[in-house]
Amino acid sequence: MKTIIGNWKMHLGIRESVAHARGVLRSVMGHEVLPEIVICPSFTALSEVRKVLVRTRVALGAQAMGTERFGAFTGDVSVAQLDDAGCGFVIIGHSERRAMNAESDTVVNAKMKLITQTSLVPVLCVGESKDVRSAGKAEVFVAQQIEAALRGVTINASSRLIVAYEPIWAIGTGLSATPADAIAMNVGIREAVKKAFGGKSIALSVVYGGSVNGENAYQFLREPSIDGVLVGGASIKIHDFEAIIAAGRDVMIAQSV
Ligand code: PEP
Repeated sequence: MKTIIGNWKMHLGIRESVAHARGVLRSVMGHEVLPEIVICPSFTALSEVRKVLVRTRVALGAQAMGTERFGAFTGDVSVAQLDDAGCGFVIIGHSERRAMNAESDTVVNAKMKLITQTSLVPVLCVGESKDVRSAGKAEVFVAQQIEAALRGVTINASSRLIVAYEPIWAIGTGLSATPADAIAMNVGIREAVKKAFGGKSIALSVVYGGSVNGENAYQFLREPSIDGVLVGGASIKIHDFEAIIAAGRDVMIAQSV
């Protein structure tokens, strides 16, 4: 199975989000083999987009969450509220939030602990800066992010985790990593997750994110060790997103033969 996650970021109003969600649904209609598709609109559009997605094969996700369950936290949205709003997935540790919303490793860890008390699937974003990569420390840096995010997190037999390897230098720059970079990093990510859970197994998907579009998606998706893609900018361009879904479908059909 391949997973395709669209992070709409702070784009689209409610009406536009509903129209775009309908567009995504049109592109999956009539196809039996489909990747897992998750779309993450802004908080304001979640409930209307949810209505569009009911009883479809496209799931709803949120782009962020707060660090507490309920309480006097003006402006925050808790994971329990996201659950209530129909989200099945939530992105945490996105580099934009790490950089601009003080989402430190400690905060990401607190969020992981809250998510695992719900049925939502965490989409944990990790990735190094250009300087860290140039210094040859990318693998170590990402392994440390994973270790910090998963420290003390308890899992059960049905727990699922998506880790998105998103090198910061590739996000929104048009400069994607190579599939070889992503494959190499995924090995380290799988090892770090295994170590963090003391060898206990978890349903783990490792996806790549960073300037994925309709043209380059196939080269990532065709790699057996890349379980999918997290798409930002191209996820709000319907032709690009359709092409990414089609690439996922083609790979799944080819690999099932
Ligand atoms: C992202 O924001 O998670 C992302 C991968 O963005 P983009 O696809 O625009 O690089």
